[in-house]
Amino acid sequence: MQFDYYMPARILFGPGKLNALGEVPLPGKKALIVISAGNSMRRLGYLERVQSLLESQGIASVVFDKVLPNPIKSHVMEGAALAKQENCDFVIGLGGGSSIDSAKSIAVMAVNPGDYWDYIHGGTGKGMPVEHGALPIVAITTTAGTGTEADPWTVITKEETDEKIGFGNQYTFPTLSIVDPELMLSVPKHLTAYQGFDAFFHCAEGYIANIASPISDMYALRAIELIAQYLPICVAEGNNLEARTNVALANTFAGFVQTVSSCTSEHSMEHALSAFHPELPHGAGLIMLSESYFTFFASKVPDRFVDMARAMGVDVDALPEEERPLSFITALLELQEKCGVKDLKMSDFGIKREDIPTLAENARRTMGGLFERDRYQLSLEETAAIMERAFR
Ligand SMILES: [Zn+2]
Repeated sequence: MQFDYYMPARILFGPGKLNALGEVPLPGKKALIVISAGNSMRRLGYLERVQSLLESQGIASVVFDKVLPNPIKSHVMEGAALAKQENCDFVIGLGGGSSIDSAKSIAVMAVNPGDYWDYIHGGTGKGMPVEHGALPIVAITTTAGTGTEADPWTVITKEETDEKIGFGNQYTFPTLSIVDPELMLSVPKHLTAYQGFDAFFHCAEGYIANIASPISDMYALRAIELIAQYLPICVAEGNNLEARTNVALANTFAGFVQTVSSCTSEHSMEHALSAFHPELPHGAGLIMLSESYFTFFASKVPDRFVDMARAMGVDVDALPEEERPLSFITALLELQEKCGVKDLKMSDFGIKREDIPTLAENARRTMGGLFERDRYQLSLEETAAIMERAFR
């Protein structure tokens, strides 16, 4: 039993916590605020609130508002250039995972030379060391999905080569994260479900990963339990603050799981899907792959599947022993049904069956590291077969 538990982010959690931004010590005097290209942060008044809370502390800010749902490298470079030009000394990611991930990558490129892909491991990345760290990062999340506010990871797509690759180091932990479930009440039903399932799979993969530890196990099982119980309520009644708070808590725990354990190759496969089809939401891609992926692994690590089924509320002890591992899959499909996402199809997002060998190859080339986290080492053929069985 071994683990390395390094979790340096200060996390302020709870309904109404955004107001703490007016009082809590912040790591600079001028912030680059990174938000999405959609209008939601302005329409909901969140940007204005953040700016006025910063002003109350005498902190200036500049806004970078180009981030796409699957964020791209050229926007990282553009945001970093703006941070340098405006002499910003910290970066705030305000929004969902795409905005916070972009803020992390911008924070790196604001103080390091060259191109962002020089520092990426995998695919055409050069894997160079990050010598100058990053600007301090503040994460204010308005969704419960990626867990990026509680982990060092950022996922960016290099648009020219269809490579969607995760990256992170000790500099890309937020120094401060604010998780205020009140900011999540307006997330639409389908996005609530996609994001909630992303958090769910961070935990399920983190639980079956070969580097899972007692620390990650504890957070993973509790988060799986919370999501199974509260995500359907969030989807049905977006304004239910208790349910939103519990899913936000599960997502924060999922970030800890990501920090201490790891995702597995389901995430590599999904990155290939959404690298080629940027309009496919990450969580939706994971949902499409999940039955096939987890069914394959149920026989490889049956005990772990029984634990996850139990966390989802299955009375596993009442089942014959040989049925227990797969009862997790039944519970997973029921949860997808309750959240209205059971019938998602790859073909609805333009993915073709004949593309699967290319997608499987891309998954292994760009995100090969996560295949090493599986407890069974998949071949290219097995990877393609899992994706093939998930195709509808
Ligand atoms: Zn994810």
